[in-house]
Amino acid sequence: MSTWYILLFAVLAVLCVAAFIGLRARRRRDDDALVRDSAAAAGADVIAAPTGSAGGFRPTGLGARVRSLFGGADGDVWQGLEDLLIKADVGPKASADLVARIRADYRPGDDPVALLRDEVRAILGPDLPLDLGADGLDVVLVVGVNGAGKTTTIGKLAAMLTAGGKQVSLAASDTFRAAAGEQLEVWAQRSGAHLVSQDRGADPGAVAFDAVRSATARGADVLIVDTAGRLHTKQPLMDELAKVKRVIEKAGATVDETLLVLDAQTGQNGIAQARAFTEAVPLTGVVLTKTDGSAKGGIVLAVREELDLPIRFVGVGETAADLLLFDAGAFADRLLG
Ligand code: GDP
Repeated sequence: MSTWYILLFAVLAVLCVAAFIGLRARRRRDDDALVRDSAAAAGADVIAAPTGSAGGFRPTGLGARVRSLFGGADGDVWQGLEDLLIKADVGPKASADLVARIRADYRPGDDPVALLRDEVRAILGPDLPLDLGADGLDVVLVVGVNGAGKTTTIGKLAAMLTAGGKQVSLAASDTFRAAAGEQLEVWAQRSGAHLVSQDRGADPGAVAFDAVRSATARGADVLIVDTAGRLHTKQPLMDELAKVKRVIEKAGATVDETLLVLDAQTGQNGIAQARAFTEAVPLTGVVLTKTDGSAKGGIVLAVREELDLPIRFVGVGETAADLLLFDAGAFADRLLG
């Protein structure tokens, strides 16, 4: 009988030890998750400069469709090509231009996709990184309609610049939209940038003025100025943008770059928006956001051809690391891939 007791006791002891080990392992997993969550809340997980460059967008399958069009026996291939380009959001002017260029070069037996790739590269020209790095404070003004991804892009850009060793200040001149200031504050904390803001409803020009003065006093390298999301059809709002630019200059700085943030998914409507902004302030480049959710890369060519603006960056997601330098070669591969 006592042997049974000993055996039972041994089994119970083994079960207790196993339960204890299991509990400890679980607690350690929970602790790890807690550490990860707090790091994420503090933004510590996402601060990294992009390691590569990109064209953004999902592959479109356009190359295969062009080959099959040219491999077909009948039909007007040039009209067919123009239709395919328009469907890829290239826009009527850029599509007609591209077809005319390819038609002039094409000889029977040529690979139309290789020709198209060369022409896309020729239209886009060399990649133009941001023109920052002059002595003193560089100012980047960021404009765009609400929801395009302006605040997120400013946060990503700040993270990229601080990771590259720059001292960055942010001006919360979008004093109109509720929560815009708070959103920018979170990004400032994540990226280690210094934020200058005032109460909601304050004069956007006054915030920009303070920000230039404070960034200069701190010896910052770059000041990125957020602006209220414009309804590009509302003239007074567009006038206010021009005023923010004038105030920055009055405060003793020069606006080196004015970037328009465009949602890649807005297609040709984005081109109309961009035109309205160009009338308010001279733009120096475009950031195309949400390219991760779009296969309609043609907008890149429409921006280049119809607005004559370089694409500086592409947004490929929502974290700080998801802003990449635009790479025309990589883009051409994606468009035709
Ligand atoms: P704003 O009103 O122009 O300042 O726009 P926000 O910066 O608030 O962005 C609007 C929404 O778009 C947010 O949910 C962002 O996380 C999201 N967003 C911004 N850029 C990107 C991007 O490149 N990819 C994806 N998938 N979402 C983005």
